Order: sequence, then structure tokens, then C-alpha cells
Amino acid sequence: MADFDAEPRMLIDGKLADAASGATFANINPATEEVIGQVADAGPADMDRAIGAARRAFDETEWSTDRSLRRRCLQQLKDALANERETLRGQIVAEVGSPIVLTYAIQLDSCIDDLQWDIDQIDAYAWEEDLPICEFMGQRSARRVYKEPIGVVGAITPWNFPFMLNLSKLGPALAAGNTVVLKPAPDTPWSATGIGKIAAEQTDLPPGVLNIVTSGDKAEVGEFLTADPRVDMVSFTGSSGTGKRIMARGAETLKKVFLELGGKSANIVLDDADFASAVPSGSMTCIHAGQGCAITTRMLVPASRYDEAVDLLKAAFEGFPYGDPTDAGNLMGPLINARQRDRVLGYIEKGKAEGARLLVGGGVPAHLPKGYFVEPTLFVDVDPDATIAQEEIFGPVLAVLRYQDDDDAVRIANNSRYGLSGAVNGGSLERALAVASRIRTGTIAVNGGQWFGADSPFGGYKESGIGREHGVAGFEEYLELKTVGLPADAA
Ligand code: NAD
Repeated sequence: MADFDAEPRMLIDGKLADAASGATFANINPATEEVIGQVADAGPADMDRAIGAARRAFDETEWSTDRSLRRRCLQQLKDALANERETLRGQIVAEVGSPIVLTYAIQLDSCIDDLQWDIDQIDAYAWEEDLPICEFMGQRSARRVYKEPIGVVGAITPWNFPFMLNLSKLGPALAAGNTVVLKPAPDTPWSATGIGKIAAEQTDLPPGVLNIVTSGDKAEVGEFLTADPRVDMVSFTGSSGTGKRIMARGAETLKKVFLELGGKSANIVLDDADFASAVPSGSMTCIHAGQGCAITTRMLVPASRYDEAVDLLKAAFEGFPYGDPTDAGNLMGPLINARQRDRVLGYIEKGKAEGARLLVGGGVPAHLPKGYFVEPTLFVDVDPDATIAQEEIFGPVLAVLRYQDDDDAVRIANNSRYGLSGAVNGGSLERALAVASRIRTGTIAVNGGQWFGADSPFGGYKESGIGREHGVAGFEEYLELKTVGLPADAA
């Protein structure tokens, strides 16, 4: 077995810890199906201890009030993560099955760099705001609004971009002065335990400020976190179904719930677009085997140039580089596990049964018998109401839909319970922007522009979520407002 130098233990109350029961679960490489390590398998008792530690650290240490302590510790964390990035890279590629090229960007390197944005907020953010003198029932008063951390944050993350999503929650939550219990996805525990090891060994983070609880169970330990009255907020990224469940559980103790959920985003190609550049990029649906919530998985093509677009897409899908994720030439590796692969294959069967035309792929690649691979798959002539045009597949599958005019394109794009992302490409920026402005979605790329960044708010309309991650809006998700009335002459 290759040595990934990975941390098998959790982080609870400042110490690297095995599960109280001693139980472990297997971490599996989805590209080889090999067990690559064992990781602590927490039960509710471990989660209980982690929540208690986070509560104590928030209530009884200086963490929530001492900004210079926070800046120092988080800078130590960021610098140490940067120093350890080659070890982390190997672990991420092995447990996620992510193409290694993605680790030189969003999957690892850029999210370590982006942590600096959160750290810089500690000094840059306006923690207090004075409002004008006001008169209320004959009395003149000054008012000051203080921005304060919420308290204990429960963070729950999925497996597709696990390291990035863990940092996207830890960065703002900790910089804002909260304490955190992070429960990562069972398929990608190292993307969290690696952070825990570095936090324990290379930073001065006070015990209990950051806790990491790994569990092979999909629900029980996470549910404990979402229901516990000592937790003030749950920050969740994952499927819309689990998001609804978390919101329902959180309602029992009226927790703040922040949700980044699924998507079924539309890529609209206008009839005056440069098809040679705009259309083949539809194959990027297959990047990381389609396991990205913001990937555009529906392409909307004008009826007047439909056949031209289909020919371009067919060539792009047939040439899409995939296979061994450690090969820098590949843009797509396996699905995360056998269940997810079978789910994707089930959607492909449903697409065929409902009358869509399968043009490329559709099965398990014959030359990759090991690993949870599915071929890049292109469906054309897809009905906008078909299952594969409505449900999130989370696999390398593009549905191509035909539209008549711009109004029709907007109607089809908005015919979705999701609203996370999207794209519009056209010959005229003005026209493309006009179409983009009518799409009910949280982010959208116009004529190839990218919206992602540490300072750009990211999140969804409709069933794609509640709240925003990144940017000032994302930072403020982790804050409470306290309005203080003062005598008018105090201002
Ligand atoms: P999932 O919802 O099954 O699991 C996500 C996390 O929630 C895991 O850590 C899991 O253990 C935990 N969990 C499961 N049931 C729970 C419960 N009842 N209570 C508490 N925690 C629970 O999602 P997944 O299959 O791991 O990830 C894929 C989904 O995530 C896709 O739908 C994708 O679109 C979505 N996603 C969204 C974003 C975004 O930012 N909007 C980013 C990545 C993934």
C-alpha cells in the first residue's frame, strides 16, 4: 500500500484523538478500489465531546474577542497548510479521485491562497458601525451596531471538493470569532484530518476552537450535530435532500442554517455566438466526472443551429481526456464510490427510457475495469421536463435541449427547482447580459467570464440553498448583529 502520510485521528479539544470506541472505517481510493487507510469512526459520544469543547472554547476563552490571537493562529494555519501542500495533494488525489490538475487550482492550491482573504478580514472588516442620532418617543439617542460571532458553528461538508469546502467554512467561521465542529464526508476524511493534524501540531489555536469529527456513518453523527442545543449555527454543503433534513432538525432549536446545495445549471448558447469556442466547452460538464454543484449540465442550443452544435459537442465528448487521476493530462477521474457510479448509470438508463438520444458514452469504460469510472456521456434531443433535464445527476452527463428564441431559452433555463449557476454565450455582450439578467440563479458566466473568487459571493436561488459563501456576504453569514442604544452625547 502506498504511504500517503495521512492522519487517521480526529481533532477534539486540541488533541488528536481516536474514537472513544476505538472503531475505524476504511478510506478507499475510487480510482483503484483499494483501501488506502483507516480513519477514526466517531459515534455520538465523540461528537458530544467535540461540541462540549467548542462550546467551552467559545464561552470561556479569548477567541471570540481577541482579534490579534485569531490573526496569529489563522496565519500559522495558512502558512503551515501551504508548506504541507505536496503531502495534502497526494492525499486529496487518492481519496477524492480528483484529476491532479484540479489540485493546482480550486481543489487545493487556490483555496489555501484564498484563506488569506478571510484572515485579512480580521483587520479590514468594520466590526462596529455608528448610526445617525435618532429620536424615539421624544428621546434622542446614538446607536452603535456591533458585529459579533454567532457562537459554535457545526460545519458539514461533501466529498467532491472536500478540502476547498472545509476551508471555505473554517476560514470565515474562525476569522469571525466562532468555534467550529467540522464533520467531513465519510468518503473524504483525510481532507479534514490533514487540517486537524496541522492545526494541532503547528498552530496556537486554543483547545476546542477547531474540532474535527470523522464518521463512516452518513447521518447519525451529523444529525447529532444539527440537533444539539449547544450549536448555534449549521453551515452545510451537500445535496438538497440532506439540506432540507438539516433545516428541519435545526428548527427544533432555531439554529441559523446556512445551505449550499445542488444545481442543474443551464449553459445558453445564443444563435449569434461563436460556436467553435462556445459549444465544445459544453464537454467541461465532465470535469471531475461531473461532480461539481455549479457545473452547467444542461446546454440550451438554438433550433436554427442545432445540428452544427451537436456535431461540435460529439467531437468534444469523444476526445475528452479521462482515466487515471494522477495523470496530469486527464480532466476526469472516477466517481467517488460504487453507489454514486450506479446512481449515474441509473440516470443514463432513465434518459434512454424517456426518449433522449444517447450520442456518446453511456456506460462503464471497457479499458478501466477497476475504479468507479463512467464514460463521458452526451444526450441530445432531451425534453426540458425529462428526468435527466431536471434532476442533479452528479456525473459526466450533459443534456442538450433545443430552444426557439431568447424568451424560450430563458423559460427553459428557469424551468428548474435549482438556481445555482449558469452561462450565456452570445455575439453581443449586451444581448448575452440581458438574457443572463433574466435567469434565476446565484452565479452566471457571460461570454466566458468566470465568477469564482475568494471575494465573490457564491450560492443559490430556490432549492440550491440559503445564504452565500465567500466574499463579505459569506463572512457576514457567521456574524450576529448587536444594536446598542447610547445617550445622544456619547456619539
Ligand atoms: P450529502 O448531502 O449526502 O452529504 C453531505 C454531507 O452531509 C456529508 O458529510 C454527509 O455525511 C452529511 N449528512 C448526510 N446526511 C446527514 C444528516 N441527516 N444530517 C447531517 N449530516 C448529514 O451530499 P453528498 O452526496 O456528499 O454530496 C453531493 C451533493 O452535494 C450534490 O447534490 C451537490 O450538488 C452538493 N454540493 C453542493 C455544493 C454547493 O456549494 N452548493 C458544493 C458541493 C456539493
